[in-house]
Amino acid sequence: MNMPPHRTSSVNFLAAGLLPLVLLLAACQTEPAGGELGDDGSTRPSFLLTDVFIYTGNPDQPVATAMSVQEGRIVAVGDADALSEAHGDLPVLSAAGKTVIPGLIDAHAHLRNLAQMRLSADLVGTGSIEEIIARLKEHEKHLSAGEWLRGRGWDQNDWPTVAFPTRMDLDAAFPDRPVWLERIDGHAMWANTAALQAVSDNLLKGAEAPPGGQLFRLEDGSASGVFIDDAEHLVGVAVPPFTSDALDRGLEMALEEASRYGLTGVHEAGVDTSDINRFIRFADEGRLTVRVHAMAEPGPAFERYCSDHYSREDDLIGIRSVKIYLDGALGSRGAALMQEYSDDPGNHGLMRTAPADFAELVDRALACGYQVNTHAIGDSANRLLLDTYEAARITPEGRHRNEHAQILALDDIDRFATLGIIASMQPTHATSDMYWAEDRLGPHRIKGAYAWRSLLDSGARLAFGSDFPVEQVNPMLGFHAALTRQDDQLWPEGGWYPEERLDRPEVLHAFTLGAAWSGFQDKDTGSLEPGKWADFVVLDRDIMQVAPPAILGTRVEATFVAGRAVHGSLAP
Ligand SMILES: [Zn+2]
Repeated sequence: MNMPPHRTSSVNFLAAGLLPLVLLLAACQTEPAGGELGDDGSTRPSFLLTDVFIYTGNPDQPVATAMSVQEGRIVAVGDADALSEAHGDLPVLSAAGKTVIPGLIDAHAHLRNLAQMRLSADLVGTGSIEEIIARLKEHEKHLSAGEWLRGRGWDQNDWPTVAFPTRMDLDAAFPDRPVWLERIDGHAMWANTAALQAVSDNLLKGAEAPPGGQLFRLEDGSASGVFIDDAEHLVGVAVPPFTSDALDRGLEMALEEASRYGLTGVHEAGVDTSDINRFIRFADEGRLTVRVHAMAEPGPAFERYCSDHYSREDDLIGIRSVKIYLDGALGSRGAALMQEYSDDPGNHGLMRTAPADFAELVDRALACGYQVNTHAIGDSANRLLLDTYEAARITPEGRHRNEHAQILALDDIDRFATLGIIASMQPTHATSDMYWAEDRLGPHRIKGAYAWRSLLDSGARLAFGSDFPVEQVNPMLGFHAALTRQDDQLWPEGGWYPEERLDRPEVLHAFTLGAAWSGFQDKDTGSLEPGKWADFVVLDRDIMQVAPPAILGTRVEATFVAGRAVHGSLAP
């Protein structure tokens, strides 16, 4: 099909600086559903999206009823009649009256960790050993011969027997394949006999538990198969690392899950060179279905991409930032606080990076031209971050970030806008922590915790994410949390410190254009405007209108990246 450039789209192409592309494409075939995502020169989809209600994320034109896409890029957004007239030569894709929003971007998450988690059988919620065996059997179907079968999430308190299991409980079903299963709290592991044999016959005779660990024994003195805390290492040292094939499989599952929930972008908060190489290989092979803004970890990845940042024509991967850790987390009292924990006198938490080392790392990162993204949870870590960034004379153009910005001294809130620091926050952290956060912090400090509204009103930029797999992937949970300060059971009534709630356009912005901005992706993604990639999500309901609890049940009908459906589909 020929597509001579006509007036309307020419104007848009000109605006986007894409006119040469138009001329090139004039003789190209268009394919509504085919094409690869990689920059291998293959044809990207072209179509006219109609019968749709679009929230564009563009303040100059917030809603629309049609959108035309050529070669994966948006060429026009507007009124259905006008676009049908102007772009009638394009294949029509009907959204059957559904709602479309810009592709959602998770500004802080861990595809790598989700991938590894998906390589283990999920045993959370199992009510008996029989149920566990059944889930393990299902998971085993994906494993190659000799591969260890891993799982996590068992809890003997939920079984009729309540007692700790033994290796014999697994042996009948898995006589040869080593099985290694983590308890729900991470403080116990359960192995079968094949796993112990793979380590050493000593365990079957009667090994000693190391200090800090505990070992259960059978009547004959051999290890029962359950290892507590530091005794886990007796077997753990022998568990082989995931193979490259397995990690590929895990990443595929993680990407599928992201697409299923409407994510078209993820900011990967800390990766090494092998993770980066996997992302690049996936992109080259047309398998990377989510745009990745990857933050390099200090070490080889930091050195490799210093002053040699990575980007691609297809905008699928960008590497120009680093991830630094300052402190731990609030739940385990690892967050660094200026005053002691309210529920643990004398404890101020932990700074994982010394102030001098942090300052040096920030200086080196800035010299590399990196965006600096630092994990800070406690008010002391946040103060140190702000002081250090300020002393290093960061500029707003560097789009430097505070990952989490979770507990802020009230005096520090205004400094984000003043210094041009982005607050990269995760709304579901608030609704996961709200049951005990005030115990840790007391009634005064809690006012500067998860303070989205205070930050936004002070002029700070927000980028929202989930921190999956710490929290769930589904961004609708974060959308709902940010809007209501309630959990998915709608607790507490009226919301937890509801003065920090945001409204829907603010939340949508933080999960789209705000997130894109924080990853230098705003020129190409984050809103539905001419010239940008056609990254969008088709929803089964209008999340900007329905009652807040209904947002929780939102189904993503289809997810498009560069005009290609990477999840679901629309009938032509
Ligand atoms: Zn994280």
